[in-house]
Amino acid sequence: MAEEEKKENWCLRQWKALKDSLHNNRLAKKQGKENFKERERAYKRLLKEEKERIEKEGEYHPDPDSYLELHHVNKVYDGYVQAVSDFSLKIKEHEFIVFVGPSGCGKSTTLRMIAGLEDITTGELYIGGEYANNRAPKDRDMAMVFQSYALYPHLNVYENMAFSLKIRHEKKEEIYRRVKIAAKILELGDYLDRKPKELSGGQRQRVALGRAIVRNAKVFLMDEPLSNLDAKLRVQMRSSIVRLHNELQATTIYVTHDQTEAMTMATRIVVMKDGEIQQIGTPQEIFDHPANSFVATFIGAPAMNLLEAEYRKVGSIHFPGGASIPLTKGEQNQIEAFYENYENNLKCQIEEELFALKQEYEEEIVKHPKKKQENPVFTSERLEKLQFTLKRVQSERSKDAIKIIYGIRPEDVRRSTSPLFTAKVDVAELMGREYDLHFVFGEKELIAKTDAREVILVGDEIGFSFDNEKAHIFDPISTKAIY
Ligand code: ADP
Ligand code: MG
Repeated sequence: MAEEEKKENWCLRQWKALKDSLHNNRLAKKQGKENFKERERAYKRLLKEEKERIEKEGEYHPDPDSYLELHHVNKVYDGYVQAVSDFSLKIKEHEFIVFVGPSGCGKSTTLRMIAGLEDITTGELYIGGEYANNRAPKDRDMAMVFQSYALYPHLNVYENMAFSLKIRHEKKEEIYRRVKIAAKILELGDYLDRKPKELSGGQRQRVALGRAIVRNAKVFLMDEPLSNLDAKLRVQMRSSIVRLHNELQATTIYVTHDQTEAMTMATRIVVMKDGEIQQIGTPQEIFDHPANSFVATFIGAPAMNLLEAEYRKVGSIHFPGGASIPLTKGEQNQIEAFYENYENNLKCQIEEELFALKQEYEEEIVKHPKKKQENPVFTSERLEKLQFTLKRVQSERSKDAIKIIYGIRPEDVRRSTSPLFTAKVDVAELMGREYDLHFVFGEKELIAKTDAREVILVGDEIGFSFDNEKAHIFDPISTKAIY
């Protein structure tokens, strides 16, 4: 059943895509948009890829341990704005998942696709093991909380919370029971007959949560619910929401651009950028083993220091200015293995792309024999990018020194009596028991978190070293973590 529905869905989208592309082409020409053809090609390719995937995969069985599953989900707005790319995620019941990433990275779009408020362009959504792309929002058993919590101003707290139950014709006693429970959890019991304007921002946001709670939904979806509150309230509400989750155990997806919220609330974090998942993991995993330099600097405050450096094949890291750190044989092997894999991987991808292009060409000729060329040239933007990257990787590997990015968290920059380097303190921010010291090393501004037992003044010359065991090495070409 799901398979037929999937194929039918695909055909519908194909038809819609053709219609849209005609319409958009006209529109784009009018607006003088650039790159439109390329984007349209990418969109068509997406549909083609999905068709191939559906055919190759045969009958897909979602993970029986997951309650929600997104399987290769893409979202393209208006035929050319790719808001979400190849998003795959399995969510177990009771999890507290946080989508975190900078503004515009596709968090809300993903959440809205899960809620059914937005169509899925390609890919699949499974709820409770069932194909649910076409399921109506009201049949998804989800309650959503938005950033702007728009309460009904003329209704009091009780009525605001009871509203959705009332329009569903729940019994009066049942409504009373559920609102009372929600009010107790949210500590709103004393405010039930107040109007929204008589409440503080935090209380209003709690009423908005209350409206979601009374629905007894299986899943809570929250889109930046705290970003309208001031810093102190945000901290309070953070723990309210975590407590709420502990109590209700409803599967929750929480969207935020604030890494602190992600780190403190999530059982698992999904870090996103430009519509793509960068990493999925527990807060600890993501903090300790960031998958790339974006995640490394996005998660953690102050952000991880990143330094341009060189890996020398004799077995050391060299910083601009001459300082160097020896590497263990193990670390050295990891770097060497990374680049070997990288090169092989690129070669495979190039082969695959070439093969796909040839196939496309042959299919085209079958349809339009007149398009046959004497010596066909196979090229695409993707192929050129891959070939360019391969050249870069090969050129780096052929040298005695490979450019790398050395990442070290402020906590792992230490004051030292046998320092790697000395630097003059530019800014010393006292943060309770610690200083955040800003200084320049190798023309780059770094931050160290150091003990504040000794007074440090701006201008002090201090010896620092890096706790090299805690260091992260990133490849500057792909930005991926080598270790
Ligand atoms: P986030 O919630 O992470 O800030 P969004 O999911 O709102 O990001 O948006 C992702 C991308 O999709 C952005 O580039 C945004 O401009 C675009 N976008 C969002 N909604 C629409 C829409 N209705 N039509 C066209 N583009 C949209
Ligand atoms: Mg958003």
